[in-house]
Amino acid sequence: MSQKVVLERVTLDGAKPFIGYTDQHDPCSEKLYANTGSQAMEWLCNAWRYRFNQLRSNRCKYGKDKTLIPIGGTLDTRSVSQSRKECSWLTAVPSLILESPTRIERVEWFTSVKRRKTLLSKRLKPGRMPRFKSYKRDGQHFICWYNGGRNAVYRQVNRNHGIITITGQNPKGYSQAGEPLRYRILLHVRVSQPIREYTAIQVDWTNRTVVFNNIPLPIRRKPTGKAIGIDRGCAHAAADSNGRFMDLPKNRLKAIDREIRKRQKSQARRVKTAGYFSEKEYANSGRTSRAYWKTRLEITKLHAKSKRILDDVYQKYTTQLVRDNDLIVLENLRLANMSRRNKPVPDPLHEGRYLHNGQAAKRGLNRSLRQASMGRLSSMLAYKTKLADGVGMILVNPAYTSQTCSQCGYVAKENRESQAVFICKKCSYKTNADVNAAKNILKRGLDTLAITSENLWGADGTPVEQGRKTIGNATRESVAVS
Ligand SMILES: [Zn+2]
Repeated sequence: MSQKVVLERVTLDGAKPFIGYTDQHDPCSEKLYANTGSQAMEWLCNAWRYRFNQLRSNRCKYGKDKTLIPIGGTLDTRSVSQSRKECSWLTAVPSLILESPTRIERVEWFTSVKRRKTLLSKRLKPGRMPRFKSYKRDGQHFICWYNGGRNAVYRQVNRNHGIITITGQNPKGYSQAGEPLRYRILLHVRVSQPIREYTAIQVDWTNRTVVFNNIPLPIRRKPTGKAIGIDRGCAHAAADSNGRFMDLPKNRLKAIDREIRKRQKSQARRVKTAGYFSEKEYANSGRTSRAYWKTRLEITKLHAKSKRILDDVYQKYTTQLVRDNDLIVLENLRLANMSRRNKPVPDPLHEGRYLHNGQAAKRGLNRSLRQASMGRLSSMLAYKTKLADGVGMILVNPAYTSQTCSQCGYVAKENRESQAVFICKKCSYKTNADVNAAKNILKRGLDTLAITSENLWGADGTPVEQGRKTIGNATRESVAVS
């Protein structure tokens, strides 16, 4: 979707960019110029964040007496040009940088409002609203639009290096004597593949990276005429109807998990010795130790690491699935329900006490469920099937897929011998339990397809209804079960 490259150095060309007066409010004071690339980058990042927070300060929240008050305290409705006039250090910032927060701030705000609504309706934790961008928390970054080649133009220099040019202009009378008005900021980047068409660049100055926002590439494939059913589970991350399994690198993930738990324990100890009940209370107390923040950062990094590992596995697996099959059938799992905590059971005899609700046993399952992160598989497949030609995805009802015999259709709880083994009590068909479930899922998917394709093509194969989308290019006849 996007390409991330390393930012090696930044150089300046042409005029020196004007970055404001020594005293911002006094236009008679000395003019400041960016003499180095890093000065210019700091300036652009600050300008972008300033504009972003300006827009953010107009968002409202509910005050004490249910009245809406802007989160910045006061409204700041200045436009870009007004801000440029009033803040001397914004005058020379390229407009494609200063305009980009308009859209980005809005998108971030409203997606979060929507996400919170959805989560609340599912009775999950809604998460917090987006805040102001801060130097300390969010680091130094800015976004520059490409806008059909108007700015942030990339060119390849040699096999592994390229230059992104950000151009801008000092207002008249603001350049140093004898210098032109226009300045160019050159971002030297290291690349490993050709840069595809992009719409914007995101410069992360804290981590020295640049991300090109690309238009997603279509997945190239040829029709194979194959259909596959997939069962997601804990023992195997995924099992397919052909009898193959996809497993996560469990040992690596476990090692990371151990490191996380070790640190979480020491955090809890710190909170306890300081005399606080919750970590949040301790973190906000202002008496937090330096070691606490250090460990907290380490934990975040470890979580990110395990996420990257999972991402890699799932990306490869789903792309392969989309390449190899014309139809992919998954069970429609309600993951939020499955990983939810058990309800507390109050003890009727003792007030304020609780009976066992099985949460301790479920905690382990929740953890491994989350680790398998099964939602990722379906969401990745959902967008990848759209990017590729002639692939369809169907979600089917998962009820009894693990108890039904895929050969004779006999349903019984006893069929499932153990977590791994399935033996049919009627026809004594024996197979792996997950593969059996995957076969049932595929069958259900094909049944659904048969119903829709009958509606679409009729008995003689002529289209009955025009304009309705098929599920991929798959028809009842075109997909074969291998
Ligand atoms: Zn059977």
